[in-house]
Amino acid sequence: MAIIELLNSSLSLVIIICVVLGLLVGSFLNVVVYRLPIMLQRDWRAQYCEYLEIDNTTPDANESSAKFAVFNLQKPGSHCPNCNHKIRPWENIPVISYVVLAGKCSQCKTKISLRYPAVEFVTGVLSGLVAISFGFTWLTLALLFLTWSLIALTLIDFDHQLLPDNITLPLLWLGLLVNALDLGFGVTLFDAVAGAMAGYIVLWGFYWIFKLATGKKGMGYGDFKLLAALGAWMGWQSLLPIIILSSLVGAIFGLFMIVLQGRDKSVPMPFGPYLAGAGFIMLIWGPQINALYYNSMVG
Ligand SMILES: [Zn+2]
Repeated sequence: MAIIELLNSSLSLVIIICVVLGLLVGSFLNVVVYRLPIMLQRDWRAQYCEYLEIDNTTPDANESSAKFAVFNLQKPGSHCPNCNHKIRPWENIPVISYVVLAGKCSQCKTKISLRYPAVEFVTGVLSGLVAISFGFTWLTLALLFLTWSLIALTLIDFDHQLLPDNITLPLLWLGLLVNALDLGFGVTLFDAVAGAMAGYIVLWGFYWIFKLATGKKGMGYGDFKLLAALGAWMGWQSLLPIIILSSLVGAIFGLFMIVLQGRDKSVPMPFGPYLAGAGFIMLIWGPQINALYYNSMVG
């Protein structure tokens, strides 16, 4: 009895640590989601201009980053985009600062987007869910990285219809490594490699069938790489449930958007958020979903 209590209390400690860590990482993810696409754009433009031997004078499309010559994840320091007020450490405490500041800049009182504390909160909650499901293990640490990457990819794809290679490709390799090290995830290295390959090829196939049939692009190469990464983590067996789940959620959400907002059906919707969401659902509830799925197949 005492041992169970001890285990319970240490598990709650792990959950609390992971939630707090998740809140802090959520704050960092806000920075990554906002800055990484701008950094990539600058990089691509510089390469393009160098290749064509033309002067690179075009400023960033984004006004608030255009005035900074150096723009990366560290520099410039966090500041209010309206009045340039430097965010002090106590103004940067996840969720709490937003509540204390009543959602406004402490200097100029410009409204701060609710999205910032929302991302911090959701990252905290999902990190806690990973801790509840996998306990105090190396696997949990690895799966937290997976979870945080999926959150960043979801938001960047939602904003820019872009799934950066700098996130999807390392995620793929990390998934293969986790299964090669056999950290207790229960996916063999063969299943992981097959998952990575099949994940890419299946969506690539869908893409071309869709394109030949309709002349439109239904998704992008980033989506193939994301599903390849999910296959590397969870094995080829999880690919079909992930595709079904993501299509289901995507279709429901898409209908909602068309009905509620009158969204134009021809405007492309990013598929990455649904893939990432389905991947996370499989991560936490995969065994239950697989059991449901196979039971319904067997009848
Ligand atoms: Zn301000």
